[in-house]
Amino acid sequence: MIGLENIEKQFGDLTVLKGVTLTMEEGSVTALVGPSGGGKSTLLRCINLLEIPTSGAVRIGEDRLEFRPGQRVPTAAIQRLRRQTGMVFQNFQLFPHRTAIENVMEGLTTVLKWPTDRARERAMELLEKVGMAHKADAWPATLSGGQQQRVAIARALAPSPRVLLCDEPTSALDPELAQEVVDVLSDLAREGTTMVMATHDLRLASTIAREAVFLEAGVVVEKGPAQKLFSNPERERTKRFIATLT
Ligand code: ADP
Ligand code: MG
Repeated sequence: MIGLENIEKQFGDLTVLKGVTLTMEEGSVTALVGPSGGGKSTLLRCINLLEIPTSGAVRIGEDRLEFRPGQRVPTAAIQRLRRQTGMVFQNFQLFPHRTAIENVMEGLTTVLKWPTDRARERAMELLEKVGMAHKADAWPATLSGGQQQRVAIARALAPSPRVLLCDEPTSALDPELAQEVVDVLSDLAREGTTMVMATHDLRLASTIAREAVFLEAGVVVEKGPAQKLFSNPERERTKRFIATLT
């Protein structure tokens, strides 16, 4: 249901993704692992088109967009595809001047033009789901990192995206706070939320990911079932990398 076909991404002279081809099934969780600078964030950003691939194609459900060097893709097509994704960032990126519930409502009222009452109702349901209903009216700065990330997850889910993209969702958090985020993501995985997640957190990855991809220097070195890739990888290079994770 999500397809990446031969995705290349260049920044000037630097080729960051060198022809990445992957398929993610509906309801599956894919962990993206690999050394820093290997292109994990860029790959996630190419799925939601925060970065426009230099070439290749991105498919989400029935929507497919092809990219060619120097060729502009219509903004409307990009927005249509982007709206099928939700993104969770390492550093939460909540709007500081909005309360927790306003953060969750924002996309519904501004982008999707939902009436405020309906958006508030939906936002409250999602805050309940992530265990943050009691902090609906709190300002982000008064919340712990784990709480902020749970609000950010609710915000990403608000427009019912087909896929939730998470870029190192626990790496800014102490282990205890990371665990509350892992718990929320595990629940979502159990409910069948399709997710693609870049992470260094082997506990997170092995708890919730069904599939894993090892990306290094813009190349998929190895991919397969997460349990196998983490415990008994085929490639020597993957083995050495997995050994460095905790
Ligand atoms: P990872 O998430 O695996 O650490 P990134 O996707 O962040 O890797 O980065 C991959 C490479 O792309 C790095 O060399 C990084 O410096 C480069 N890069 C990422 N974004 C940009 C950008 N906007 N402009 C130039 N280089 C970039
Ligand atoms: Mg990154």
